[in-house]
Amino acid sequence: MKMSRRVFIGSGAAMAAIAAHQFSRPAAVRAQSGGQLNLYSARHYDTDDALYQSFTDRTGVRVNLVEAEADQLIERIKSEGANSPADVFITVDAGRLWRAQQDNLLEPVSSRVLTEAVPASLRDPDGHWFGLSKRARVIMYSKDRVNPSELSTYEDLADAKWRRRLLVRSSTHVYNQSLTGSILAARGARGTEEWARGVVANFARPPEGNDTAQIQAIAAGLGDIALTNTYYLARLLKSENPEERAIAEQVGAFFPNQRDRGTHVNVSGGGVLRTAPNKAAAVQFLEHMVSQEAQEIFAKGN
Ligand code: FE
Repeated sequence: MKMSRRVFIGSGAAMAAIAAHQFSRPAAVRAQSGGQLNLYSARHYDTDDALYQSFTDRTGVRVNLVEAEADQLIERIKSEGANSPADVFITVDAGRLWRAQQDNLLEPVSSRVLTEAVPASLRDPDGHWFGLSKRARVIMYSKDRVNPSELSTYEDLADAKWRRRLLVRSSTHVYNQSLTGSILAARGARGTEEWARGVVANFARPPEGNDTAQIQAIAAGLGDIALTNTYYLARLLKSENPEERAIAEQVGAFFPNQRDRGTHVNVSGGGVLRTAPNKAAAVQFLEHMVSQEAQEIFAKGN
């Protein structure tokens, strides 16, 4: 039996339709509290089913999954208000967890299991959210045209030696906003603006596509280096499609800033909603996500 209903939401209208379809009787959902958990997730990975199934196997709690972009989920939780069936909110970056917290949607959780498993730097100090997996944003490079000894730091990407060689997805994407946040913390506002101008001046093309598209563009010779998360390269390396594997073979991953603050790491994480009808199950769910069993699924799946 499949434990979760997978819903992928592309627009506000579709969201409203699915809301009406899936949660037309919130009172009934609440009446069965304990037996199920309503998970609003911005993760879109097929392997996540195994994660949620492992929780159901362990606890008997059924997981009802709603997937959408994080901002859409935040809007949905706000519009559902006190009647929201959402128990747990999961995103693929700390930036949106912070936004949900700013909107007062998250309940502080105090759990020794969580505070012991998750390093303090990867969770909210008051327990509004917890990082569940780390994701490094690194420099990908053409093995043909770049010697990794030429690479060093994120700051160096603004250097004129990379003119017309750098590929990156749009700055509207939260991965890049979080990375820029890390530059801001390290270099201050003026330094960050200068850096951003240098980076833009080095673009090989106007930003387009996702992280995978940047790696493909290196292989196609459109640029020599790119900023992407590591798992996009791992996915291509493990692809069933030999052409994708051939693309990945041409690209190396470099972890910048090893001599100072280290490579920028974001988290995929989650928190319990203030209005969660199944709070105990929600905390139990987060605790399961940091267990050895779930952590292995995270690492191998992504
Ligand atoms: Fe991603």
